[in-house]
Amino acid sequence: MAERRESLGSKQEQFEALVAEAAACRRCEAMCGRSAVLSERNGRAGARVMFVGEAPGRQGGDRTRVPFSGDQSGRNFARYLASVGLAREEVFITNSALCNPRTGTGANRRPTRLEVSNCSDFLRRQVEVIDPRVVVTLGAVALEALRAVEYHPFTLKENVGQVQPWRGRLLVPLYHPSPQVLASHRREAAQLEDYQSVARALRLAAAK
Ligand code: SF4
Repeated sequence: MAERRESLGSKQEQFEALVAEAAACRRCEAMCGRSAVLSERNGRAGARVMFVGEAPGRQGGDRTRVPFSGDQSGRNFARYLASVGLAREEVFITNSALCNPRTGTGANRRPTRLEVSNCSDFLRRQVEVIDPRVVVTLGAVALEALRAVEYHPFTLKENVGQVQPWRGRLLVPLYHPSPQVLASHRREAAQLEDYQSVARALRLAAAK
């Protein structure tokens, strides 16, 4: 018991160090003026499941400082989480790029490969510190970002909604909950069905 308390204590310290380092990070030139969305508001160290998105949105995580909150992607995500009985307090949520990427006119844009690669070490360390049993990627960018942390052969097209082994954990590739994806690539009913795999992965992890 004392050992477990000590280990949780040291995980908390590692997480706080990671947060401080990310807050000071200026590795991506285009992100100057914005800061990493990473704090205890992402979730707790020791969460059983970690969700990895693309990058914080201008009206979402960059404004609220909580990933997937305050915009339509966040509202969709909250609905999907609730559909499998998960509360935000039970999970950890982060992004492949921790800062909000914008175009010259201030609109959200996809993080570049270089920006995701710059942030890869932060993602690797978050996986190590949070130590989730299940990792869920939201969209192709996140699935690729995870491949850079440790190789996996999975693609969104071939493996969406499957529970796969990854680095001693279980990996579930899902689509991103953005309204654009919902309207064109993966409709509500299919996404709700996909989220059943998260519940399945958690049951499998608990049975191990
Ligand atoms: S996206 Fe990641 S690597 Fe780039 S500046 Fe932000 S914290 Fe640093």
